[in-house]
Amino acid sequence: MTGSLSIAGLGPGDAALVTPEVSAALACATDVLGYAPYVARVPAREGVRLHPSDNRMELQRAGEALRLASEGRDVVMVSSGDPGVFAMAAAVFEALESAPQWREVSIRVLPGITAMLAAAARAGAPLGHDFCAISLSDNLKPWDLIELRLLAAAGAGFVIALYNPISKARPWQLGRAFECLAAILPGTTPVIFGRAAGRPDERIDVHLLAEVDAQKADMATCIIIGSPETRIIRRGDKPSLVYTPRSASGSKA
Ligand code: SAH
Repeated sequence: MTGSLSIAGLGPGDAALVTPEVSAALACATDVLGYAPYVARVPAREGVRLHPSDNRMELQRAGEALRLASEGRDVVMVSSGDPGVFAMAAAVFEALESAPQWREVSIRVLPGITAMLAAAARAGAPLGHDFCAISLSDNLKPWDLIELRLLAAAGAGFVIALYNPISKARPWQLGRAFECLAAILPGTTPVIFGRAAGRPDERIDVHLLAEVDAQKADMATCIIIGSPETRIIRRGDKPSLVYTPRSASGSKA
């Protein structure tokens, strides 16, 4: 039986930002699995079985996808943004590594536009030079490690994109992250709050590190913290543009 598993990224929210490759995979899927709000973004079609699930059941969902594919179904597992960025592709491979019976399943990872790229494009070109991405969630790693990485990245002059910045269960971490960064970066460092990029309720705000308020972010926000090289172009009534020049002087924070 030749089923398949495609692990697909739906992009940040706008249907125009779903790749044709992902649309084609969805168009011939027999089963679509994923976190319920992402499955809800899949166009309805007769003959496709939807399997929405809770956000916390990643490994169980991954196992279910592999099982269905091994039974001959054409399965698409959906993530928002890119499936390889803090998302389901790694969970599927984790499940696969501990389950030799599914090693023969045909698997593809279909990339999507990750939140960081969507938010960056709305704000200008803040990722124009070296950058990194850090998840601020301490559910899957200790907080100490997050602080270490923030300080190392800022100290080395990287622009930093923060995913999973804040939630009801993690109310203080983002404020603490800003405190750590403010200890080594200039107060004038631009900080972009890219909320719901590519969705109807999108909101892009540019702040300075010295005056940023963590409580203005939520789980739908991707935060981009500039490097000491990152600049803001003010344009009167038009939104400011933030960019990081393509050359760096070598000065550290
Ligand atoms: N795989 C996803 C990331 C999942 S982690 C991707 O590649 O985009 C979830 C985090 O992604 C959220 O907490 C938020 O920080 C960010 N995010 C997801 N969609 C977003 C959007 N449309 N705008 C801004 N940030 C978003």
